[in-house]
Parts: sequence; C-alpha cells; structure tokens
Amino acid sequence: MRRFKFIRDPEPASGGADVEEFLRRLEGPACLFFTGEDTGRTRALVTLLHGNEPSGAMALRRWLQSGQRPAVNVVCIVASVVAALEPPTFSHRMLPRARDLNRCFRPPYDDAQGALAEEILEILRFHHPEAVVDLHNTSGSGPAFGVCTHMDRQHDALVSLFTQRLIVSNLGLGALMELSEANFPTVTVEVGGRLDEQAHELAYEGMCRYFLAATVLDPGETDWGLELLRDPIRLELNDNVTLTYAEEPSASYDITLKTDIEHHNFGAVGVDTLLGWASGSERSLFTALDAGGRCAVNRLVRVENGELYPAQPLKLFMITNNAAIAESDCLFYAVADDGSTIC
Ligand SMILES: [Zn+2]
Repeated sequence: MRRFKFIRDPEPASGGADVEEFLRRLEGPACLFFTGEDTGRTRALVTLLHGNEPSGAMALRRWLQSGQRPAVNVVCIVASVVAALEPPTFSHRMLPRARDLNRCFRPPYDDAQGALAEEILEILRFHHPEAVVDLHNTSGSGPAFGVCTHMDRQHDALVSLFTQRLIVSNLGLGALMELSEANFPTVTVEVGGRLDEQAHELAYEGMCRYFLAATVLDPGETDWGLELLRDPIRLELNDNVTLTYAEEPSASYDITLKTDIEHHNFGAVGVDTLLGWASGSERSLFTALDAGGRCAVNRLVRVENGELYPAQPLKLFMITNNAAIAESDCLFYAVADDGSTIC
C-alpha cells in the first residue's frame, strides 16, 4: 500500500490560506517534487517527521507560494501530516500509541510507522538525492543546531546553510540521518523552538539557500568554522520514575526540574548550577550510557541534600520542558563544557 501522495510541481495556490489548510489539502503523507533548472540532479528535504514541529511545513508552504524554481530538482517529503492535523494542530509528536517516526529508520518495518519510514527510504533511493536535509524543531525554546553521524566537508557544508552549530552523534536510535554513510549525505537540522517565529524564519531562509544554491556540498567560502559538540550522552529517566517541572520541589514526584531549565540550552552549566530537585540516588533515577556502553550517570548529575546539580562543568542541549517527552525520550543531551565528549 502506498501511503505517500506524489505531487509534481504543485501550483503556488495549493499552499492554501494557512499552513493548516496546506496540510489538509495534502490529506496525508506527501511527496512534493519541484523540477529544477538542472534536472540532472536532485536534493531531498524531509520534514514533519514529528507532527508537533511546524517550521519545515510552514517554510515549504512559503517556498511553494513564492513560485521560485530550484537550482536542481527537489523532492520534499512531508511525513506526519495526520499527527500534525490531530487537534489541537501541531501538538502531537506522533499519534497516541504510535512509535516515534524518527526512531523507525531500521528494520523491522512491521507496524504503521515502520511502513511509513520504509516508504520514505524507498522514495529517497528512487530519487538518488545528492543530499538530504531533515528539518525539525526542538520542543523547548533554544538556538538552532545541526546533527550528523560523522563529520566531513559535505556534512559541514550542508549544516552551514542553516546554522553554525553542529552535533556529531551516532547513537544508533534508528534516526533518518543515521543512514547517511551508506547512501547520501544526510543531516538533521533543528531550526529552534517549535513556537519560535525565529525558527520559522530560519527554516525558510535555509531552505531557500538549500534549494537555490548551485552547489551545497562544498563548504567553499562559507567555511567559517562550526561550533562542534561531539558524542553527547543522553540523560534518560528510569522506568516508573516520575517527573514534573516547577519552581520548588514537588513532593508527589521523584524529580522536579526547574521550569526555566531550557534556558541552559547550549550554555555552560557549572557544578553549582541548580537543575532541580530529586529524591533517591542518581542511578536509581537516571540512565545514561557513554559511547563505550558504560554507565555515565555519575559523570552527568549529582544529587546533594535533595538538590540536583551537574556532576562536572557541562554543556547541555535539547533540554525539554515537556515531561511526556522527557519520559519517552530523554531529559537532555550533554557534552563536556568545551564541546568534547564526557569522560
Ligand atoms: Zn523532531
């Protein structure tokens, strides 16, 4: 069964009155193909893998309405249209009980989300793109960054179209960008918070650069140096550990994180930075594994008199302020404060 609707060279008017109408007209997962000036090459854009991350779809609608023609063919995959339209619009990362689509890009593909991921891979293989950019928003507010599994000049150049901050990480989670080495240079770009106007703007500006540049894989003059963060470690909650966000410790939860914790995104936190409150030992509450598969919890956090602090100077990012995401995914990612991996 084909799930994706293929639309070749859509009319600017098909963008609808707003992004919601644009998605309604797609009706479900869609693949929009724009014929380029050079029809011998193709680039791919993937977005809305997560239904609560609107910047990519908004930017794509804007691109469509601008009536521009890209430098090369562009194939745009808009994935979780159904989850995005589930009321209230853009609030569901995925539908209830569905797997996270960006954890499904590896076998088995035997449920609905797996089948969707497999079809995305088929579309990409069919079009042989020279590059793939996967656009996301972070759930909390924060600056933009790129993520790729290994760094070289091509990945560097792709990310530079959007941002100057790059996380190099290969956690083997089944994310789309993990297919990069085997197939085509693939980067994830997190354009910023899902509700941030700035993020919507960056998605559009970066998309225009990606679609209009004669070449996107050569850093050339844009190579002014990325801020690199290597092999971050994820801090996860143990099963059945409860979490909330508040300005003071909440007795009904195992962990209370400060409501403004997301303000530490990409900033350095010292050993005296209060992150929240916790009852129990670090290892009874959290799980964290380093690249070698060893427990890294005590290198990340420390509980002292019920208060939660970094165990060493760290740089934290992808900090969520959403308990459901923290429980199903992770609380944050961490590297040493100079961007190197934690040891
Ligand atoms: Zn996402």
